[in-house]
Amino acid sequence: MMNYRITLLPGDGIGPEIMAVAVDVLKVVGHQFNLNFEFQEAPIGGVAIDTTGEPLPTETLEMCRNSNAVLLAAIGGYKWDNLPRHQRPETGLLGLRAGLGLFANLRPAKILPQLIDASTLKRDIVEGVDIMVVRELTGGVYFGTPKGVFATETGEKRGVNTMAYSESEIDRIARVGFQTAQKRGGKLCSVDKANVLEVSQLWRDRITLLAPEYPDVQLSHLYIDNAAMQLVRWPKQFDTIVTGNLFGDILSDAAAMLTGSIGMLPSASLGNSGPGVFEPVHGSAPDIAGQDKANPLAQVLSVAMMLRYALEQPVVADKIEQAVLQVLDQGYRTGDIMSEGMKLLGCQEMGEVLLKTLSS
Ligand code: NAD
Repeated sequence: MMNYRITLLPGDGIGPEIMAVAVDVLKVVGHQFNLNFEFQEAPIGGVAIDTTGEPLPTETLEMCRNSNAVLLAAIGGYKWDNLPRHQRPETGLLGLRAGLGLFANLRPAKILPQLIDASTLKRDIVEGVDIMVVRELTGGVYFGTPKGVFATETGEKRGVNTMAYSESEIDRIARVGFQTAQKRGGKLCSVDKANVLEVSQLWRDRITLLAPEYPDVQLSHLYIDNAAMQLVRWPKQFDTIVTGNLFGDILSDAAAMLTGSIGMLPSASLGNSGPGVFEPVHGSAPDIAGQDKANPLAQVLSVAMMLRYALEQPVVADKIEQAVLQVLDQGYRTGDIMSEGMKLLGCQEMGEVLLKTLSS
């Protein structure tokens, strides 16, 4: 029997509701596939601020480090919005990424046939879309220095951020991009702004240099402005996209919206070694928290990503993804993906039908 220690970070808002469903799913597949999951739970975000005064207590980070993978739900809420920046829930999330060295963010955007009408784009444009955006997460303009707002000689203020990437930072995210493309359709599109930015030219040069190591991957390059246009014009041309922090932030949200349903989108954040963090793309949805209205499926699909990318259990991941599709095929929906003629369920009920499907 394989043993895995999983750190659970339910966080705030709908977090605990959707996490409960994810844990049930893991227990069922653990039983079916002879996997033993040892769960340890820790506070992060608002709930951690309330109990310890910090958004990422040292014990939480330690627990995460001492596990095979981290399953996070969501953090944040109105209650903590006006605290100073270092005490905000989001600071906990950034601290977790930095503390675990998570430099690669994998964001799939896959159109599910059952939810195709949730997209704002025409059916024939989005049908069959299956994109993975690999975003660099710990470098680029969000972290480069100098940064800040400085007074100039005239007394006018000037805001500064610096977009910087070293060769080694580019190479390690490029490798994740190539390897991800290998596991998928074998096509990698690198997105930059090399026609204007020196940092992007280095990005393009390094990625081109590494390409011969991955002869089974077909590499292409696009400028960010063109990539944004192509993503809404003909998204099916993309398989895997690799890009820097800022461009990836924007493109992964745009790609997500092709699917039209934020309650369905998982993500993975990975480092070179050590545990990755698996979490839904959506936030803590404080507007529906505690009302049993949340869609737990993005959290469940994050469990599938964890099994695929961290625990090397692709068959179990497939089984969970199939069960999600079957539940949708049976017409079950939560409020966020509801459409005419479908059966509206709460978060708990959605969990129950999913477990029944997994067990059948
Ligand atoms: P949000 O994703 O929480 O909610 C946006 C909208 O989508 C809301 O109407 C919400 O009800 C709905 N929604 C989101 N997830 C859903 C689900 N699983 N099922 C059904 N409906 C769902 O984004 P927001 O409102 O901008 O942010 C709310 C809080 O979440 C803020 O404090 C923000 O900082 C935080 N946030 C956290 C993360 C994270 O933990 N990674 C990400 C984004 C936002």
